[in-house]
Amino acid sequence: MAIIKVQKGTKDILPQEMTVWHLMEEKAKEIFEKYGAKEIRTPIFEATELFARGVGDTTDIVNKEMYTFEKSDRSLTLRPENTAGVVRSFIENGMHRLSAPVKLWYKGPMFRYERPQAGRQRQFHQVGVEVFGIKQPTADAEVILMAVNYLKSLGLNDLTVELNSLGCPKCREEFKTRLKDVIRPYLAQLCEDCQSRFEKNPLRLLDCKSTECQEIYSKPEIQAVIQGDFICEECAEHFNELKSYLDILGIKYERNKLLVRGLDYYNRTVFEIKSNNLGSQNAVCGGGRYDSLVKNLGGEDTPAIGFAMGMERLASLLGEKQEKKMTAYVISNNTVEAMKLTEELRSKNVTCEFDLANKKFVKQLEKASKVAKYAVILGEDELSQDKVTVKNMETGIQETIKRNELKL
Ligand code: ATP
Ligand code: MG
Repeated sequence: MAIIKVQKGTKDILPQEMTVWHLMEEKAKEIFEKYGAKEIRTPIFEATELFARGVGDTTDIVNKEMYTFEKSDRSLTLRPENTAGVVRSFIENGMHRLSAPVKLWYKGPMFRYERPQAGRQRQFHQVGVEVFGIKQPTADAEVILMAVNYLKSLGLNDLTVELNSLGCPKCREEFKTRLKDVIRPYLAQLCEDCQSRFEKNPLRLLDCKSTECQEIYSKPEIQAVIQGDFICEECAEHFNELKSYLDILGIKYERNKLLVRGLDYYNRTVFEIKSNNLGSQNAVCGGGRYDSLVKNLGGEDTPAIGFAMGMERLASLLGEKQEKKMTAYVISNNTVEAMKLTEELRSKNVTCEFDLANKKFVKQLEKASKVAKYAVILGEDELSQDKVTVKNMETGIQETIKRNELKL
């Protein structure tokens, strides 16, 4: 019979990979909670409208990448990202009444119908943070610090923080107009995506991966607009203050004026963290400020900023970490005694197993040397004298002790 295979763009995360996944999850809890963030878990599917309104219907995510299905006349979508879901929950649960800032973190699977390739899957995982209620750039600095320190805690240092400010809706309108004016003469030469972005979301033109388009955008008159400082005084002040905090805290960053990010809801600060050790899918983290999203989704006007990291990309940077051996393997020809001692050790928080298949003593010893740090041996003599022999499987040293003195 033909075997059923895993779906294109999805992957099993196998037991031998779990050391790395557990590390990413444990460090997320440890580091984000150090900053006062609390974990939130929202459903994997939401109303399609949440993403259309929350992520923005000019984005690739909403236009091309969503897993949408109908159930009982409702249009539902598997979440392609988690900011919209967290914002929905923030509003629905009246979290604006909590004392600001409200800091939330999450981890879990996301779904995007993309062309699978290295670093790009259809089901992938993100870990992320959202901070609500603070408009000052101190929150921007704090959020960037959380991202950088999380990555550092995983031992990832060879990373670059790219930073930009998209300004506010007011100053951005002027920038969009100027950008369109200089790009308009080349409109017919742009790729199909850029032609449709031109009216709908001209900032996204800068994000285009096509070399032909990028060549056009590198023309001097277009670069003059891109590299010019378009943001208004207030936005510039916010950005400068953020940069000064990062300088003071020793967080290195690079200004990237082409960084616009894929989602519609960002304003002012946007950032990405890139690895120098990944191929073309080199962004491990993307984030930014989204001061109008809570209001746009029907909540109280609440400024916010957050980020999301791709866990598969982090995992591939972390490489393989050795699986931990269990602490003890109980060896005996007396199954019932082995079973009892194993349970006793487990009740004392010792990870341990015994041979469920009643194999010969030597086979049990062989198994112990493969899977455990210690063999705990219950032979005839030990059983009759209420003793156990503990053998250190790395050094080979063994000693026989009273059973009630056994400590591992
Ligand atoms: P990209 O430019 O790589 O498509 P993006 O801007 O679509 O990224 P975000 O929505 O900002 O990505 O998501 C944050 C992070 O999630 C990315 O930096 C990346 O590490 C990860 N990510 C996004 N899409 C995928 C995917 N299809 N497969 C694996 N990881 C992904
Ligand atoms: Mg993408």
